Amino acid sequence: MKKLLIFSIALLFGIALFAGVTSSTAQAKTTFVTIGTGGITGVYYPTGGAIAKMVNKKRKIYHIRATVESTGGSVFNIKAIMAGDMDFGVAQSDRQYQAWNGIADWKDLGPQKDLRAVFSIHPETVDLIAAVDANINSMQDLRGKRVNIGNIGSGYRKNAIDALVANGLDYKKDFHAESLKAAEAPGLIQDGRLDAAFYTVGHPSGYYKEATAGRRKVKFIPITNIESLLKKYPYYAKAVTRVTKFYPGAANDKDVPTFGVKATFVTSAKTPDNVVYAIVKEVFDNFEAFKKLHPAYAYLTKKNMLEGLSAPIHPGAMKYYKEVGLK
Ligand code: GLU
Repeated sequence: MKKLLIFSIALLFGIALFAGVTSSTAQAKTTFVTIGTGGITGVYYPTGGAIAKMVNKKRKIYHIRATVESTGGSVFNIKAIMAGDMDFGVAQSDRQYQAWNGIADWKDLGPQKDLRAVFSIHPETVDLIAAVDANINSMQDLRGKRVNIGNIGSGYRKNAIDALVANGLDYKKDFHAESLKAAEAPGLIQDGRLDAAFYTVGHPSGYYKEATAGRRKVKFIPITNIESLLKKYPYYAKAVTRVTKFYPGAANDKDVPTFGVKATFVTSAKTPDNVVYAIVKEVFDNFEAFKKLHPAYAYLTKKNMLEGLSAPIHPGAMKYYKEVGLK
């Protein structure tokens, strides 16, 4: 009897506790936010995961639940955010510039006035790989070959076209251009259905690890004649791809010269300040932990994460940067 009484008191107490918990969660509604990334063998996908991880850890404080989506890349992400289909996205710095100014893929849509910058992340290089047996040693050797220049929603397609134009090549005439998602290219090179492929990504990436690990030998081709690009476009910078360090399976004995951009994190002016603030605070307050989440973040500093942004910084992010003296 006594036992039963204790049990029922405990049960009652349990119910009361449970009711308390449910009512407090009902009060603090969870805000679900989506982060658009890229293909799963790129660096955007793990980057979205890293950012989501930082803020989801504190869900009891912020009541934010961030989820990551694999997408077609930068252009898709910015368009989806502007359409209200996604809340955040990773996008190349050149794509952020173009969207903000209403040029390139936004020529018909005009300036994306609601686009907001949050921070920039890792550097990305524009690279071209080719199967060794395809006898491609320079960009000129692409003539007549099957080359992936990238899917329409990607950021890198325009980088490929810019590099080709700077080298006097027309993808509509000079070779068989494919518009495939990056994730598909390494497998198609291995199967002999593709000779070469462009991609703009941070390093190391699963994409190049996969592309250089197969039986068909693959090498990085230097991207040359970029002076005109550097002059014409403010967002391009000279770069070197650390092939020997990151991809020992590639048939290169030297690193290759190219140009590059930065990955950036963007959102809409419509995203609530407190949501942007929470994400920025968790990434920056726990900076060393964040940096450990991907080797491509090795050279990140809090200061350089505020460089390479064209759209205005979202007020939720700015509040944090002012609080800690970064702005
Ligand atoms: N820079 C690529 C693009 O926007 C994506 C790279 C990645 O997913 O890491 O198309």
